[in-house]
Amino acid sequence: MAQHFLLSAKARRLSLTQVAGLTDTEILALLKKARWGTEEEQVCSRCGIRHFAYFIKTRQQWQCKHCHTRFSITTGTIFQSHKLSLRQILIALYLFTTESKGLSAVSLSHKLNVQYKTAWILLHKFRESLNLTKDLTALSGEVHIDGCYVNYYLRPKNFQHKRIDRRAKRNQRKDKSCVMVFRQRAANQNRIQGADRSIVAVLKEENTQDILALTHKLVKPNSTICADENPAYDSLALHYQLERVNHSQEYCSIDGITNNLAESFFARLRRMITGIHHRMSNRYLIHYANEIAWREDERRKSIQEKFNELLNKCLSCPPSRHFVGYWQGNKRPPVSFGVSSLSDNQQYHIAA
Ligand SMILES: [Zn+2]
Repeated sequence: MAQHFLLSAKARRLSLTQVAGLTDTEILALLKKARWGTEEEQVCSRCGIRHFAYFIKTRQQWQCKHCHTRFSITTGTIFQSHKLSLRQILIALYLFTTESKGLSAVSLSHKLNVQYKTAWILLHKFRESLNLTKDLTALSGEVHIDGCYVNYYLRPKNFQHKRIDRRAKRNQRKDKSCVMVFRQRAANQNRIQGADRSIVAVLKEENTQDILALTHKLVKPNSTICADENPAYDSLALHYQLERVNHSQEYCSIDGITNNLAESFFARLRRMITGIHHRMSNRYLIHYANEIAWREDERRKSIQEKFNELLNKCLSCPPSRHFVGYWQGNKRPPVSFGVSSLSDNQQYHIAA
């Protein structure tokens, strides 16, 4: 039997001791390569001109030869004004990358010996970079879609006479919401088995209007969509080749129809909720769901590749408005649902 990818030497390639053992010069070289693609030239964070800027060794900063602005390796990126050392940031990035279902802020704060608040912000900056740089080009071919409810659990009262009907709509939690996923089956199943691209959105509930709008945006015409028996998906039959599987009777129809690509995504999401975070507020739900989408899509890449990719994404994102000054009261606006949940945080970003 072939060896599982995660057990292979290729999947490892990078270790915590390697990352922690980098010298300051090596760390700067790594970040320069990730940010500007070369160790020689720099791109001014203000005027954007690529050139050999003056390096001020004592401050570890550059001065632009055109506009005379001074900038460091993190100026204009999501790590701007960082309080942690670059080494701590890289170690956190490594730990975040190697987890399969996510990393909790408490766990990271213990590993780095920093406050919970510091770890929480850093992890959310990683998630925000993933969310801002996600690829929203429409999916094609075979696309599996489904919704998964979160924040729905109601704890039963102790006394039997005080218990309520937890199925009734009037008794449900106000913050109950639904994560929708669209997953495209890889065109070459020899190269990668299962899905190769996933896009997530957040809905209040699975309803025809939102599902139709999202599908039009995220799935190319003439694609095949596999969905379960929920009537909210019925209207898709007018626009796409729609295949159904009735989960109350079977998980795989006699013709081999499933929507298991979506279900396997939810398996990982539910494990993340029960095993790592325990609670996800709706305000940051899209970040967590998109993190799982990234982990699913990159599951066949080595730690080294994933580490470099995440680092690139972080260094290409502008400073975050919501996680700078978060504990001083600067919070993200309340959650938006439907199509706007795909990109609602982009408009709140200041330019680099
Ligand atoms: Zn400049």
